[in-house]
Amino acid sequence: MALFGKMENLDAPQNENKEMGEVEKIKVLIIGSGPAGYTAAIYASRANLSPVMYEGMQPGGQLTTTTEVENFPGYPKGTTGPEMMEELKQQAVRFGTDVRFGMATAADLSQRPFKVTIDGNKVVETEALIIATGATAKYLGLPDETKYAGSGVSACATCDGFFYRGKDVAVVGGGDTALEEAMYLAGLCKKVYLIVRRDVFRASKVMQERALKTPNIEVLWKHQTKGLFGNGVVEGATLVKNMGTPEEEEVKISIDGFFLGIGHKPNSDIFVDYIDTNDVGYIQTIPGTSKTNVPGVFACGDVQDDQYRQAVTAAGSGCMAAIDTERFLAEQE
Ligand code: NDP
Repeated sequence: MALFGKMENLDAPQNENKEMGEVEKIKVLIIGSGPAGYTAAIYASRANLSPVMYEGMQPGGQLTTTTEVENFPGYPKGTTGPEMMEELKQQAVRFGTDVRFGMATAADLSQRPFKVTIDGNKVVETEALIIATGATAKYLGLPDETKYAGSGVSACATCDGFFYRGKDVAVVGGGDTALEEAMYLAGLCKKVYLIVRRDVFRASKVMQERALKTPNIEVLWKHQTKGLFGNGVVEGATLVKNMGTPEEEEVKISIDGFFLGIGHKPNSDIFVDYIDTNDVGYIQTIPGTSKTNVPGVFACGDVQDDQYRQAVTAAGSGCMAAIDTERFLAEQE
């Protein structure tokens, strides 16, 4: 116990679930359960830091909403997002991570120990904090997205595609997310419109080629969505072609499902009063580390990465966060 001698009073018994309203004291709290959070958990538990992880709103993170993962090293035949996350979870639990269901709803990072509120009622006090809260799918901001939420509007093809078997759907976006969603839906649906606001994709070349070769995907270049229509459920979308030009025209398509694939927003809202972020909310870390501007608070994965956003880079940064945490706690001795 020499390394963590000052925190002997923080050992295992206090890592048990406590009654509502009680304050629980722990050494390391990891918020978020994507590849970054689980990798941080594996390294932190192997370093005897007794980490507690709260899984957040989407246990397993964004990869649980993806199908094939073909680019994670070590899987020559590919795997699926949910399988990979389940295996990462098992690996973290095997080394002693206390994985819990729950959502961090508030944080006070003004001094150590940091206070994090879980599900609005339970407070966890932690000596070090690893933020691995990821990012969440963006919506266009149209009132019709709210109007038809759960009635034809979705930001997750793998979650909801099943309901649109044999039907016509649309996917908005021209990045890898949109193309992946479109290809997944093309396997289930009669026709998939891909609504792309420019005349080029942003997606990787391999995904572009696959999407363009898929016979039941029709790309609607230079189209933007104006609204949705339908009696209680989505029956179609009103699009604008060549918006803002003399050739601007309104186009209506008949669809049963409208899927968003336009990118993500970092889940950093509860930390922004204390942690430096960029102008769109991505947590800023000291280059080459997972350190934030608050000593003892580390960030990894998509919440701090607006560039790479891959499972493997998230996992790598989770490893960095655990090692930085271990070193930070050792320096407090
Ligand atoms: P991106 O930011 O890469 O792409 C967003 C797409 O949505 C762009 O085509 C963008 O258009 C479009 N868009 C954004 N806002 C609007 C709007 N208001 N109206 C219409 N269109 C809009 O996000 P992704 O989520 O696709 O990808 C993020 C990262 O994750 C990338 O690095 C990607 O490579 C990676 N990824 C990898 C996957 C894999 O390897 N299997 C799967 C999914 C993602 P414009 O181009 O005009 O800005």
